[in-house]
Amino acid sequence: MGKYKIAVIPGDGIGPEVTNGTRRVLDAVGKRFGHSFVFDEWLAGGIAIDATGEPLPPATVAGCRGSDAVLLGAVGGPQWDTLPGDKRPERALLGLRSALGLYANLRPAILHGPLAAASPLHPAISARGIDLVFVRELTGGIYFGSRGRRQGPHGTEAYDTELYSTMEIERIARTAFDLARQRRRHLTSVDKANVLESSRLWRETVIRVAADYPDVALDHLYVDNASMQLIRRPDAFDVLVASNLFGDILSDEAAMITGSIGMLPSASLGEPGTPGMYEPVHGSAPDIAGQDLANPLATILSGALMLKLSFGLAKEAAAVEKAVQAVLEAGYRTGDIMEQAEHAARQKAVGTQAMSDLVVAALA
Ligand code: NAD
Repeated sequence: MGKYKIAVIPGDGIGPEVTNGTRRVLDAVGKRFGHSFVFDEWLAGGIAIDATGEPLPPATVAGCRGSDAVLLGAVGGPQWDTLPGDKRPERALLGLRSALGLYANLRPAILHGPLAAASPLHPAISARGIDLVFVRELTGGIYFGSRGRRQGPHGTEAYDTELYSTMEIERIARTAFDLARQRRRHLTSVDKANVLESSRLWRETVIRVAADYPDVALDHLYVDNASMQLIRRPDAFDVLVASNLFGDILSDEAAMITGSIGMLPSASLGEPGTPGMYEPVHGSAPDIAGQDLANPLATILSGALMLKLSFGLAKEAAAVEKAVQAVLEAGYRTGDIMEQAEHAARQKAVGTQAMSDLVVAALA
């Protein structure tokens, strides 16, 4: 029996709808397994700009720091798109990552059996199943290295710098190895060590860390080959780890081979013992906000990740995943995962609320 404090940031657009459903699912988990989850709601994104003038008010940062984990819906919307860069809702995400020291972004890509037809891959490939996790380094590399413009012999030049320290590579490698240990004990490290010096340090460091994980099989792929293998044989992967830039691109590819954006959870983690942040991969979907059309499953599955990774409640997380699977197998679908094809007749259209209620009922 545990007591856990969760900071909830509903945010903008469909954020409040999908976080509400997830709170109810977590309450159902608490009831079934004898835990208590205490939720505190905080402002971030456009709603925070409207209320306070800031996308990430200091009270929100303090509230998140004082919690055991953070659940975030999504931020952003067209009404704030004309604000200057540092005042935009999306700044809240960067601010939270840096305030909480979230250096590892984990994105599972799972092809749920009942949704196999949603995968854009050839059926012969998707039939073999997809169950992998992408671990992306989140606070280093070319997105944070020095950059600029200057005048060269042929006019204006621009540059960005990929820079990684051994410390940064080592800690993300440990996150990935630890995760592989909880799964099928296979880690693939992605780099471009045939060309880039930063990648050579990446590979050397990952190999050195591997000595502490003799029970995990390690292999390496160049990023160009990794992008091909993800499509050709996605079932060959368990955990993949990559730099910020390579991870940004490849984790989107890994996500899309499973079908819908409304199904994809994510976790951002810092040092062990500090609060992690859990959020769906999708944005605030202003086009469907407030209409009970959003798929809440990506956020609900993010809640399952929170149970497993931040609270060590693996059994409880598995129960949520099983409940989601059962609801899908029973044919319930929000609009984004509704198939147009011949199976359509067996599907039952539901909204955000009803989908969350079905998961709650399947957990009881
Ligand atoms: P989006 O993910 O919000 O929407 C893309 C498309 O997917 C839309 O057609 C939307 O209706 C659909 N969609 C997304 N989530 C869905 C769900 N749960 N169920 C059903 N359909 C879903 O991306 P966008 O349109 O590029 O961005 C909209 C806003 O969200 C922008 O302001 C953007 O900056 C912001 N954004 C925020 C985050 C975040 O908070 N982490 C991430 C991406 C984008």
